[in-house]
Amino acid sequence: MHDGGTSQFDGQLVDTPIFTPDSWNLTEFEAALCAETRALAQAKFAPRAAGIDREARFPTENYVDLKAQDLLGICIPSEHGGRGADLRAYMLAAAEIGRYCGATALTFNMHVSSCLWTGVLADGVEMTEAQRAEHATMRARHYKRILEDGAIYAQPFSEGGDAAAGKAAFGTTALRTDGGWIINGRKIFASLSGHADYYGVLCTELDTPDSRPSRANTMYVAIQRDTPGVSVEGHWDPLGMRGTVSRTLIFRDVFIPFSEQLMPRGVYFNAARQWPHMFMTLTPSYMGIAQAAYDFTVRYLRGEMPGTPPVKRRMYPTKQLAVAQMKIMLEQTKSLWFQSISEARPNPGKDSLLRAWAAQYSVMENANEIAQLAIRTCGGQAMLKSLPLERLYRDSRCGALMLPWTAELCTDMLGKGVLYEAGETDEDQA
Ligand SMILES: Cc1cc2nc3c(=O)[nH]c(=O)nc-3n(C[C@H](O)[C@H](O)[C@H](O)COP(=O)(O)OP(=O)(O)OC[C@H]3O[C@@H](n4cnc5c(N)ncnc54)[C@H](O)[C@@H]3O)c2cc1C
Repeated sequence: MHDGGTSQFDGQLVDTPIFTPDSWNLTEFEAALCAETRALAQAKFAPRAAGIDREARFPTENYVDLKAQDLLGICIPSEHGGRGADLRAYMLAAAEIGRYCGATALTFNMHVSSCLWTGVLADGVEMTEAQRAEHATMRARHYKRILEDGAIYAQPFSEGGDAAAGKAAFGTTALRTDGGWIINGRKIFASLSGHADYYGVLCTELDTPDSRPSRANTMYVAIQRDTPGVSVEGHWDPLGMRGTVSRTLIFRDVFIPFSEQLMPRGVYFNAARQWPHMFMTLTPSYMGIAQAAYDFTVRYLRGEMPGTPPVKRRMYPTKQLAVAQMKIMLEQTKSLWFQSISEARPNPGKDSLLRAWAAQYSVMENANEIAQLAIRTCGGQAMLKSLPLERLYRDSRCGALMLPWTAELCTDMLGKGVLYEAGETDEDQA
């Protein structure tokens, strides 16, 4: 079998793993989970991906499959009846989905994030005993909805300003009243809008309408899609990741009871500070796309790409050189990403944090670089819309734009982080 080839799994022909379990020392759990998501995504999601992209529609049927295969609860702790995947196991398994349908992997990440924040991340964050008890009750309700009713959660954080970049309080507000909050605000690029059953919304709690918004009062709440005052607005016709249906969500005087908190007040703010690797959960979709663009190129040049004539192009030195470049970039990206997701933990050291930014930047930028090399190398016939490569190219461009760790912000934080230690300034130079 050649690099980028196929093998048998459960009677089906499936692609070889992105991370071969033996070489990368995956646990048995991780290897089995990746084999499962790869087999499902290759068999079911890949054939649907072109239609979903063309129509810019939500991959509803893929979510039916995810539910049937018990994957909606992939990161729900096992004591609550879920699959109990930790951050690394989830990231590896999600990359296999991204390989076949980027939009499914990216929307799945929004759903899974609601379980990661409330599950493995919350478990690693300091809480008082009372908060821990309150959280146990809250999350049990939320997990039951997912496991028993098949509820899908979205993660609409972005507002178009400084908040999603972690620099200001969210403009969406939760005014405290008797028995609950009144939510007002607007979330842009809300993937799954109109399709999720619940929106996991970050907002700022206000005691009175005149209270000054503070990031420390960030609340993480669930808003049921049919609650009065919730609406979805605007068109969705973007360059890539078209199946995410990331339209604008509006909340106008939406009342939610106190029981709809996803984390106790103040805990999200601490969790986001203590668990920076959580922001890497946007990368697996793009890690999968990088692998897919590479796989495509190998098969195409060998004359083995389904849907194309069996013409070999591998004998040209320029194509060999380009594939070598792609392989080097793919291996560099995989290695850095794997190391970074392996060292994910609460309160990582500075070295680990700098590496996480470098890994995020590398996955997001290299996925697009590999996809564009693939198009140049394979040639004109390979970029026809009947083949997946042009979609991989468009989808891959979106990764670097995703807050809070856009490619620009990663370089910004890295440059400052490398050159300055905590508290250092250049005032003495003035
Ligand atoms: C396909 C897709 C799906 C998405 N899905 C979701 C989703 O489900 N939920 C969600 O919350 N978001 C989602 N997003 C949104 C994404 O995370 C960003 O919030 C969005 O792309 C930002 O757009 P913008 O034009 O407001 O960004 P920008 O205007 O570029 O940035 C917004 C803010 O970030 C800061 N910033 C940006 N660049 C810099 C810089 N160079 N230096 C310093 N500060 C900077 C600034 O504070 C700026 O005001 C999605 C995006 C895409 C492309």
